[in-house]
Amino acid sequence: MSDCLFCKIVNGDLDTEIVYENEDLVAFRDINPQAPTHLLIIPRLHISTLNDLNPKHDRVLGSVVRCAGELAKSLGYGEEGYRTVFNCNEAAGQTVFHLHLHLLAGRHLAWPPG
Ligand code: 5GP
Ligand code: ZN
Repeated sequence: MSDCLFCKIVNGDLDTEIVYENEDLVAFRDINPQAPTHLLIIPRLHISTLNDLNPKHDRVLGSVVRCAGELAKSLGYGEEGYRTVFNCNEAAGQTVFHLHLHLLAGRHLAWPPG
């Protein structure tokens, strides 16, 4: 989608440091980090929210979720722990409507979240 911020990142139209990418997804640092490590993992395909998933997305979403774990482990957080979050729509605080998985690590993360 031409007016989607994260599609612009996928297309290389914004100056964003890419941490990891493959044919399915792109991972990059959040511009407003909420933890010492705060990455966003997004499918290359534009999907607005979790509500918009269909069975054809299962493979790419599996890649997104597995990527979060692989990145966390490669950054040394596997044992200590980390959090992954999909926010969906207003009540959860979603602000960018291109599906993204937050990976937060490097500090104690309280539960329940605010
Ligand atoms: P949401 O609130 O939708 O779950 O998360 C959107 C995230 O995208 C926020 O944590 C926000 O800081 C991040 N973000 C918004 N605009 C940009 C941007 O232009 N570049 C990067 N790297 N992150 C962004
Ligand atoms: Zn998009």
